[in-house]
Amino acid sequence: MAALKTPLTGAKRIVIKIGSSLLVDQDSGELKSAWLSALADDIAQLKARGQEVLIVSSGAIALGRRVLGSKPGVLKLEEDQAAAAIGQVHLAHAFQEALDQRDIVAAQILVTLGDTEERRRYLNARNTITTLLRIGAVPVINENDTVATSEIRYGDNDRLAARVTSMISADCLVLLSNVAGLYNRPPDIDAAAEIVKEVKQITPEIEAMVSGEISTMGKGGMATKLVAAHIAMGAGAYMAIADGTKSHPLMAIENGDPCTWFLPSATPMAARKKWIAGSLEPRGRIVIDEGAVKALKLGKSLLPAGIRSVEGSFGRGDAVVITSPEGYELARGLSAYDDGDTRLIQGHKSSEIEGILGYRGRTEMVHRDDLVLTKGSNHEFG
Ligand code: GLU
Repeated sequence: MAALKTPLTGAKRIVIKIGSSLLVDQDSGELKSAWLSALADDIAQLKARGQEVLIVSSGAIALGRRVLGSKPGVLKLEEDQAAAAIGQVHLAHAFQEALDQRDIVAAQILVTLGDTEERRRYLNARNTITTLLRIGAVPVINENDTVATSEIRYGDNDRLAARVTSMISADCLVLLSNVAGLYNRPPDIDAAAEIVKEVKQITPEIEAMVSGEISTMGKGGMATKLVAAHIAMGAGAYMAIADGTKSHPLMAIENGDPCTWFLPSATPMAARKKWIAGSLEPRGRIVIDEGAVKALKLGKSLLPAGIRSVEGSFGRGDAVVITSPEGYELARGLSAYDDGDTRLIQGHKSSEIEGILGYRGRTEMVHRDDLVLTKGSNHEFG
């Protein structure tokens, strides 16, 4: 059957989140390798069409529990973490093997809350992930459960996957789980319950459809999926809640199996630029020369060579205002250097950065993807 046109079919950069119960057999605690192999086939199809794919996979704790011989039920934090440390090795190995058989390179990334929330680390994680995508690898991401304490932990991979989606400007997030979508009524007690096909806005009515139940194996439930939807929509991405229990779950979505799609109101780039221009408090000002003004207006990045002076105190990843030599605001963006280092490299060629700072920093002071021309400056970046 020819694939239907779904947001999954048309997306450029796709994040697929896999719940623990899909990958790990509830009774035996074993990895479901036949299921993983079918999923890897689906991923190979997306990659063959030129789509970029990232996986956010749960299952480390569930896999580790079996090795630890833990009894069913809730574990203490340190037991969870020990289980995660053991299970993560198995999980990464399973993905590496399944993808390698399809000539796809897998790369493991373990992130903590700070990597997606703290701007300095956020830029690093974003750069690493986009580099991996550029070389055709499939990053396999999980939370670094082993060292995070409960206060600085995501705890569930639904929100983590949505944050990653936003961080790398992906345009589609698929949450594969053991529920087939968002139901308008509780499906376990109401035979007339139906899957909501499309959600344009998370209204109180939609929120009321979500009960507080959580999965027996993983940490997420419908409530965390709705939080994820909120983040994804705000970041300009489509998000699906879809049945992952069947074989070839991604092809099933494309072939029209019912699932819930949450629709974004903007593109990821527009959402990111709105965030940079509107939501962040600028910490400093960078005055640039005429050459750099021209470059910015052509949609180029700001290089250290074009900087005349720096005001304020800011860290790497903070928002800064960029002004013309006369002091008019031209743009806002995320700075790749703190104010001290910026002062040292201003006016210098990018090739001189390492010699001056003693480390190999970024070529750009503000990368074009992290830059937005201020309204009224007469130009828009494409
Ligand atoms: N990071 C956890 C794990 O790999 C899963 C969290 C979740 O279930 O969402 O086991």
